[in-house]
Amino acid sequence: MAETRTPSMLQVFNEHFNRAARYVKAPADLLEYIRSCHSIYSITFPVRIRGEVQIFRAYRAEHSHHRIPTKGGIRFAPDVDLDEVAALAALMTLKCAIVNLPFGGAKGAIALDPRAYEVDELERITRRYTTELVRKNFIGPAVDVPAPDMGTGEREMAWIADTYLMLHPNELNSLACVTGKPVGQGGIYGRTEATGRGVQYALREFFRHPELVKVTGLQGDLAGKRMVVQGFGNVGRHFARLVHAEDGAVIVGLAERDGTIYAPEGLDIQAVLQWRETTGSLKGFPDATTIDDAKACLELDCDILVPAALQNQITAENAGRIKAPLIAEGANGPTTSAGDAILRERGKVIIPDIYANAGGVTVSYFEWVKNLYHMRFGLMEKRIGIRTQRQMIAGIEAVTDRAFPTPIRDEMLHGVDELALVNSGLEESMVESFQEILEIMHHNQTPDLRTAAFVCGLHKVVMAYQELGIWP
Ligand code: NAD
Repeated sequence: MAETRTPSMLQVFNEHFNRAARYVKAPADLLEYIRSCHSIYSITFPVRIRGEVQIFRAYRAEHSHHRIPTKGGIRFAPDVDLDEVAALAALMTLKCAIVNLPFGGAKGAIALDPRAYEVDELERITRRYTTELVRKNFIGPAVDVPAPDMGTGEREMAWIADTYLMLHPNELNSLACVTGKPVGQGGIYGRTEATGRGVQYALREFFRHPELVKVTGLQGDLAGKRMVVQGFGNVGRHFARLVHAEDGAVIVGLAERDGTIYAPEGLDIQAVLQWRETTGSLKGFPDATTIDDAKACLELDCDILVPAALQNQITAENAGRIKAPLIAEGANGPTTSAGDAILRERGKVIIPDIYANAGGVTVSYFEWVKNLYHMRFGLMEKRIGIRTQRQMIAGIEAVTDRAFPTPIRDEMLHGVDELALVNSGLEESMVESFQEILEIMHHNQTPDLRTAAFVCGLHKVVMAYQELGIWP
């Protein structure tokens, strides 16, 4: 498929949407309404930086209000524009629907390169942006709840929460105005790594379906699978660490903005983390070949490719050279529609972003509920659980007249804490929604997982609007 220049994320979203809409029984006007972005706030604001006034462009898009609050990350990126934010917000609407979260989709951004600013400057910019969102009612526990995305993390979320709190001193649920906060500031265990872990759970579930695995020519489970990960930030770093440590996957390639490292025998991820910490780069990592071209990682020989950095990475230009038979999209929009078409023609299987990277918003949902509940998960039941386990162990020992194996006893008597509950909820959510997507794929005869995932999300949003009606 021809692609003279890289399309905008909104164009790509619209093409995926139109492909899926053919499988959805709904009036055309309703589908058109669902496709459009409902509220967009575009702002410029000044911040004094090193004695000079700098003007920042920033956005917040609330794509759909069929469920409130709306939910979606905030990214700091130099070239971000309104179209990109609107497309990301639309993806969030369908993503939340797919994993059955009670949110409409939203997204926000400030056009800046965070590496160009000192911490105190970023804090002032973030706080001013939050104030602008408050002024126009684009943030609040019942209105719109941001989270981290590219270029932001728990530090920025803490500043947002604190600014909101300052402006709403008597609001009991203030902390629920943003998710992805540090645990000590109302965050939840497991949120930082949740998106990477969600991609891990998505892949594990994929490998439980032999009919899908067969198409890729792969076998077995994640153990020994050779993987390449593009982007060693929040999503990519945690994903690589988790599948390496917990599933025995072999990470053969990693890429950051300044280059790729490749080791066919596999990289020691802890050592790579340490190397990056010390040198600030992946490049030059011992026992690996460094390739200066960051995009080269996409074309490396591997079983599974995980783009987890940026949008528009797999395009008509390079899709013909992708070797991996299976691609799991950790990033939002890493594949253009022309790239997607070429990959499909070549028999590649894609686990699409709107499902694969839904782990972050899923655990954000748990955090939001925790903030509204005003108590950490597991507190009330932990001791009851331990007591019940102890009684069961004592009973088994009495009946068998043998001592229970110590490692199993220790694990059973550890009890269920917040992190275990979060991971359990995340796994259930990823497994359940994968099965829903598969059911749609079989029932509607959709040609691929992306279309099935879009149809899955669209069905639920259509149903919500039909049940709600139009007021007045
Ligand atoms: P991040 O800023 O923590 O990490 C992105 C990483 O990619 C950075 O380390 C950056 O240096 C690197 N990078 C930039 N340009 C690159 C290039 N050309 N090649 C290779 N690496 C490059 O961001 P993140 O939160 O990990 O987000 C990554 C992607 O995942 C984005 O598309 C984001 O929308 C998506 N996502 C993030 C979350 C989340 O919870 N953070 C949730 C869902 C989706």
